[in-house]
Amino acid sequence: MNKAHALIPAAGSGARLGAGLPKQYLQIAGRPLLHHALRVLARHPRIEQVFVVLAQGDERFKRFDWSEFGTRIKPLYCGGDTRAASVFNGLLATRDVIAAADWVLVHDAARPCLEREEIDRLFGELEEDDTGGLLAVPAADTLKRANRESRVVATEPRENLWLAQTPQMFRYRLLIEALRAVDPAVVTDEARAIEGMGLKPRLVMGDTRNIKVTFAEDLALAEAILRSRQPPAASRQPGRKQKPARGRQKK
Ligand code: C5P
Repeated sequence: MNKAHALIPAAGSGARLGAGLPKQYLQIAGRPLLHHALRVLARHPRIEQVFVVLAQGDERFKRFDWSEFGTRIKPLYCGGDTRAASVFNGLLATRDVIAAADWVLVHDAARPCLEREEIDRLFGELEEDDTGGLLAVPAADTLKRANRESRVVATEPRENLWLAQTPQMFRYRLLIEALRAVDPAVVTDEARAIEGMGLKPRLVMGDTRNIKVTFAEDLALAEAILRSRQPPAASRQPGRKQKPARGRQKK
């Protein structure tokens, strides 16, 4: 079985969010987005280490406490102008510690709601795959193509259309060669670079709650998703007697 590593591009400026702070550092449920995004990867037993690609000169990362992850996470100050450039630079910086056939799971810092089960599914379906693949969900809404005036010019058939998510899981050598060959300004995910090599990444069923925080309203949604997974306050206090939940009492 090959080793697996995670790489989180976190060198974006978050311009679309308009918060004046790179979005990976915006707080939800008391932690920066980046903390939520890397926690589940850093705790996964198959993942050796999580490399976090930061902007060169990033001053914020070290202001937060990452000690709970020990040596399982490693910051790399080598971000590029685009997401693809950041991932490529991160892969170059890890060439001495990642073997050619090792798996690399690339995950957006802006996706804080990933769960262990989705990572398990990736390994379950891709471990023996020659190409690798990505989490994605089938398109549920009707898709409209617009012109510059926001008028519909076509309705796209949604059969076989999927929305790409992360993590995207590919072997180190294949991924770095694929990214080397593409224009980083036009490639918005790893799978697109692999497709450019004539290969067909496998789609692994994701979860619609694995949202990417892009606009301000996404923050509240991500926070609600995370909070919905926390155990109720009473059950977190050891030794305390719990009242039966309302509506479920025995008559
Ligand atoms: O901006 P967008 O939401 O597409 O960014 C996706 C991920 O890529 C984020 O985690 C962001 O920090 C990262 N990124 C990066 N380097 C860039 C631009 C984006 O690492 N130059």
